[in-house]
Amino acid sequence: MEIGLRRIRVLSFDMEGTLVDPYFSHLVWEVDIPRLYAEQRGLSLEEARERVFREYRAVGEERIEWYDIGYWFRRLGLGSDWRVLLERRRDACRLYPEVRGVLERLRERYTLIVTSNTIREFLEVQLLDLKPLFTRIFSAPSDFGEVKKSPGVYMRVCRELDVEPEAVAHVGDHPKFDYEVPRMVGIRAYHLDREYKSRGEHIVHNLEDFEKRIKMLEFRDNYTEEPH
Ligand SMILES: [Mg+2]
Repeated sequence: MEIGLRRIRVLSFDMEGTLVDPYFSHLVWEVDIPRLYAEQRGLSLEEARERVFREYRAVGEERIEWYDIGYWFRRLGLGSDWRVLLERRRDACRLYPEVRGVLERLRERYTLIVTSNTIREFLEVQLLDLKPLFTRIFSAPSDFGEVKKSPGVYMRVCRELDVEPEAVAHVGDHPKFDYEVPRMVGIRAYHLDREYKSRGEHIVHNLEDFEKRIKMLEFRDNYTEEPH
């Protein structure tokens, strides 16, 4: 029985797959970079994609380099400036439909933050005009030199905000980085499964769902609090 839990004060959101859909990233990583590589090496696009994807797999999402576009431009020997690429794809950033409404409502009661594995330069472009809704925007690789696979990232976020982990709820679409890891440090984490692949107490299917869970938590916390 969870009695006397500290009230939720901070709501933390993953970015990609949670606030914005993967279209922008897909274009940058799976279309533009292979195309640049093809041009550079005189390969067919298909051949280039195969080779670039092989390189991606060799690094994998648990390593910080995975998220570092500068690293990939160097590793793949792409001559051009990756910042130009991001600018050119700015229009491909798309929020999930419920996001703006949910954030507008939740910001009345909570401090909203982003805790992402995306590097700062991508976050700046992808968050569009949502940025003012957040008190802090944390990029694990840019701010802490780490990936969210490490509980240390979440602990540092709590420290920066001067808040206990129990007073933070986090939501994101990665079962390990956004659910298992933050749970380890005592954050109330929810796994966002937009495809309805699973169900459970800590699984939500969109951010309206998350909003409902937070309301329930708050009600339960108030209800179970001992009288004083
Ligand atoms: Mg994500």
